[in-house]
Amino acid sequence: MHHGGPLLVHQFPCLSDNYGFLVRDEATGTVATIDTPDAKTIGDEADKLGWSIDLVFNTHWHPDHAGGNAALAERFGCKIIAPEGEGDKIAVKDEVVSDGAEVMLGDTALKVIGVPGHTLGHIAYYAADASLAFVGDTLFSLGCGRMFEGTPDVFWASILKLRSLPAETALFCAHEYTRANADFALSVDPQNAQLAARSEEIDRLRAEGLPTVPVTLADELPINPFLRADDAAFAASLGKKGAAAHEVFAEVRSRKDQF
Ligand code: ZN
Ligand code: FE
Repeated sequence: MHHGGPLLVHQFPCLSDNYGFLVRDEATGTVATIDTPDAKTIGDEADKLGWSIDLVFNTHWHPDHAGGNAALAERFGCKIIAPEGEGDKIAVKDEVVSDGAEVMLGDTALKVIGVPGHTLGHIAYYAADASLAFVGDTLFSLGCGRMFEGTPDVFWASILKLRSLPAETALFCAHEYTRANADFALSVDPQNAQLAARSEEIDRLRAEGLPTVPVTLADELPINPFLRADDAAFAASLGKKGAAAHEVFAEVRSRKDQF
């Protein structure tokens, strides 16, 4: 169980490599699930804790994030908050929100941050009082989401928004992709000692069946290649000396796609 200020986060594996997150505001007992990858698993985890799900906060429309909305609404009668920018792709919802909005989880405010790129309507939820953010498929440990709908300049602008959060922010990424991401990161940044240390830590954690998520932004800043597209030395090492940051980001993204 992760304690962040007024919030308690229960994280558990869902489907093949997703994470489910049940978040409880301790002052009021209000509970939200971040996304709905697998309604049965999420509902059973809530039952085990004696928690009833009041709210669903969707990050984007993909079925491994919103596919369980209807079943959870039926089982718990929860209210579903979805990104406005995903339009009808999320059919089951009660309310839509977009960049700059604030949603309440009991007494705790979560700020909605628009982070298009993986999908065009993708949003993240940031709880300043809890120093944590649910970033969906936008940012992963040592990686970022595939650019299915956005363009490099749009995606890079979203990365910059997340990068500007306080460094101590715990990032709750929606997938356990870290081992594969580390292999790629090492291929483009082979001299990075902090990255090598993180790679060993990932092996230790996974050997014990433990998650590599959440990670703090501070820990990711020096080692996640997708956060470093405006680092001149890193750009030069990729043959992109003097290129605009979004062009460097595009280069890293396309190398990862082919890795
Ligand atoms: Zn996705
Ligand atoms: Fe996903």
